[in-house]
Amino acid sequence: MQPYEMTVAQLKNAIKNKELSCVDAVNSYIDRINDKDALVNAYLTKCFDSALDNAKISDEKISKGEELNYLQGVPYSLKDNICTEGIATTCSSKLLDGFKPTYSAHVYEKLQDAGAILLGKVDMDEFAMGSTCENSAYGKVRNPFDLQRVPGGSSGGSAASVAAQTSSFSLGSDTGGSVRTPASYCSLTAIKPTYGAVSRYGLIAYASSLDQIGPVCRDITDAAMIMNIIAGNDKKDSTSLDISHPDYTSFLTEGIKGLKIGVDYESVATGLDEEVKQIYLNTIETFRSLGAEIIDVSFKMQKYAVPVYYLVACSEASSNLARFDGIRYGVREYGETLEEVITNSRTKGFGGEVKNRIMLGTYALSAGYYDMYYNQALKVRRLIYEDFMNTLSECDVFLCPTTPDPAYKIGEKNDDPMSLYLADIFTVTANLTGTPAAAFPAGFTRAGLPVGMQLSAKSLREDQLIKAIYNFQLATNYHTIKAEL
Ligand code: GLN
Repeated sequence: MQPYEMTVAQLKNAIKNKELSCVDAVNSYIDRINDKDALVNAYLTKCFDSALDNAKISDEKISKGEELNYLQGVPYSLKDNICTEGIATTCSSKLLDGFKPTYSAHVYEKLQDAGAILLGKVDMDEFAMGSTCENSAYGKVRNPFDLQRVPGGSSGGSAASVAAQTSSFSLGSDTGGSVRTPASYCSLTAIKPTYGAVSRYGLIAYASSLDQIGPVCRDITDAAMIMNIIAGNDKKDSTSLDISHPDYTSFLTEGIKGLKIGVDYESVATGLDEEVKQIYLNTIETFRSLGAEIIDVSFKMQKYAVPVYYLVACSEASSNLARFDGIRYGVREYGETLEEVITNSRTKGFGGEVKNRIMLGTYALSAGYYDMYYNQALKVRRLIYEDFMNTLSECDVFLCPTTPDPAYKIGEKNDDPMSLYLADIFTVTANLTGTPAAAFPAGFTRAGLPVGMQLSAKSLREDQLIKAIYNFQLATNYHTIKAEL
C-alpha cells in the first residue's frame, strides 16, 4: 500500500511503528499531487518545500526517540478561506489575490501543534458561496469519480483532494452544507460540528452565525481523530464554547442496538432523485438490521429552511464582506476618490455570485425592508429551531439524504441558480439550529456516482453521529471504494 492510499489512522500507525518516515509520507503525496492534481484541480497553493522541511523535523524527532504528537507527519490540505500566516489565502476570490495573512487560524495552529503537515491550500466557491465549486475565480475543480462533474461545494477542493488521494484529510467550512455536500458527492465522511465547538478565529467569515469548520475525511475514524485536534475553547472566538471536549475516538465502538433513528418519509416524497431515494431506503434498512430502532418523525418546518437560510446568510455576508474595500486587503483598483477606489476594487474583485448575495443581503437589511425580510427570517429561524428540537426529542439521531441529487455535470446548473439553492434543503437546518450533522457514503448510482446520507443530532451529541456512522461503516464498504484516476 502506498502512503497516499492510507487513512489518517493508518499513516499515524505506520509512522509511529517506524514502518514509514514522515519524509516518505510527504513525498508520496507530493508525487501523487504532481501526477493527479492536474486532473481534478484541487490545489491553489502548494507548500511542498515547507512540507518537506517539516517532515524532516518530524523524522529527527522520531530518531531522537522524542514523544510523537497526535498527527505527527500526517499530510493534509486546507480550504483557502482558513488563514495561514505567510501563505496565500484567497477565498478563491480575485479580491484577495496576493493576500498573505499575518496570522494563522486557530485550527491551523492546532494542526501544526499536533504535527500534521500542510501540503497546500485548496479551491472553493468564492467566499464559500455555492454548492458546486463552480464559483471559484481560479478555475474548475472536478469530481474524482467523474471528471465531467462537480465535486460539490463550497469545500470542493477539500473533497476532491481527499477523494483523489492527494491529501489524507482536509478541513473545510460549512455555512449551509459546505463540508457535507462535497463529502457526499465524493464518497467521503465529513462532520459539521456543533456551533461553537470549533473556533472560527482566522476563518474568513461568510455568515458568522452559521459558519463552522469541519473535517473532510476518508472515514469516520479519521474524522473523529481530527475533531480531537480542532475542537476546543478559544478565547479569540467569542462564540467558542467554554466546555471540555470528549475524546471523539472513544465513540468508535461497536453496537447501536436500540439507537433511535428518526426518519421523515414525507420530506423525501417529492423532488428526490429516484436512485438517491432508493439508497436512503437501503440505509434505513441497514441501520435497522444493525439493531437501531427506526422512528417516524415529522419535521414540518423543513420547507422554510432554504428561504430563511438565504436571507440570514446573505444579510450576514453583506455585512461581513463590507471590510473588503480594496484598501486593507488584496487588489486595489485606481480611483479619483476614496469612494471610487472602493467601488472599482469591489466591482473588479468580486465575482457574480458574491455580488448577487451582497445585493440580496443589503436589500434585506435596508431600513424599509428589514422587518419584512431579515427580521421575519430570524423569527422563522426560531420556529425552525423549535420544530427541529421537537423532532430530535423523539429520536437520538435524524437521518436524511445530504442532497436531493448526486453530483451535477459541470455547467449543468448555470442557467438555474435557484435549483442549486433549493438543493440545500437537507443541509441548512443544522447551521440554522447550531446542531451537529455528519455526511457519510451510503451507496453509488448505476452510473457510479457516490451518494451520501446525513445524520443530525442534538447540540454536542457528536458522539451519537460518530457511533452510528462507525457501525454503518463496519457493516458496509462504500467508504472504501476509491475513485479511479
Ligand atoms: N450552498 C450553500 C450556499 O451556497 C452553503 C455554502 C456553505 O456552506 N458555505 O450558501
